Amino acid sequence: MKLAFIGLGTMGGPMAGHLARAGHEVTVFNRTRAKADAWVAKYGGRAAPSPREAAQGAAVVLSCVGNDDDLRQVTLGDKGAFAGMQAGAVLVDHTTASAGVAVELYEAARARGLHFLDAPVSGGQSGAEQGMLTIMVGGDRPAFDIAKPAMMHYGRAVTLMGPAGSGQKTKMINQICVAGVIQGLAEGLAFTLRAGLDAKRVLDVISKGAATSWQMENRGRTMVDGKFDFGFAVDLMRKDLRIAMEEARANGADLPMTALIDQFYAKLQSRGGGRLDTSSLIKLLTDRK
Ligand code: NAP
Repeated sequence: MKLAFIGLGTMGGPMAGHLARAGHEVTVFNRTRAKADAWVAKYGGRAAPSPREAAQGAAVVLSCVGNDDDLRQVTLGDKGAFAGMQAGAVLVDHTTASAGVAVELYEAARARGLHFLDAPVSGGQSGAEQGMLTIMVGGDRPAFDIAKPAMMHYGRAVTLMGPAGSGQKTKMINQICVAGVIQGLAEGLAFTLRAGLDAKRVLDVISKGAATSWQMENRGRTMVDGKFDFGFAVDLMRKDLRIAMEEARANGADLPMTALIDQFYAKLQSRGGGRLDTSSLIKLLTDRK
């Protein structure tokens, strides 16, 4: 397939790489040109000077940028991807963004005879590198059927959740659940240290029971060791929790724990920890006050 990929960051770079390695003809765009050139040197393909030029002739255009405004910048306007796409082409966006912007871009695409899918991912940097992401998709079934084979190159589960915005709403639920699990794990481990027990032994035992989680299995030991450079950053988590809390204000859901944990992340940011990974919540419980 002729594909385009916009945004070669921590996630987008390896995702686009899987498409090239599978033999697709991939044209990339990255705002910082040097990253696009490095990507082409590694994987082949072509770098374009704008999202519009990258999207020309592609059956599926994929994007993974930062937030709502970044997404509008790469899709709308003269240099945006929509301006270069041919009728019937699909834009699949992997950014974690609001459900509102997903619906807005779905409508803008439809007005031009294009398709838009919101398709945020879970699985982090390692999931992107290993091609093992969970992808939750919102939009129309025909567009999903066109784009799914491309996503399968880096997704182990690619699921259509419902109409436009449903992928982003599912990702919000994911982040609400992740935040609560990390805080619970942080409190359990801080308690372990106070109780004078061997924390790694405790983890070995309780990870075989009802308390187990992905966070416990993958981050428990690194939290005990005080290592917080494992991908998903506090700054990005705050963006995601803000999006989830805004959606909750609109749909009436109560998120008392999420709001509290968001404040804990704000405290980490104010202490200069915005680039630490999300498991650094434990620092608020163990660092000297
Ligand atoms: P990243 O490393 O910061 O990469 C962001 C990419 O978007 C870069 O290529 C950046 O270009 C580009 N970009 C940002 N704003 C832009 C704009 N206005 N115009 C054009 N390009 C722009 O971020 P990431 O970690 O890959 O995350 C990308 C998205 O995936 C985010 O929404 C994040 O929440 C989500 N996500 C991340 C993870 C994770 O573990 N990192 C996990 C799941 C979901 P430059 O190179 O020029 O900066």
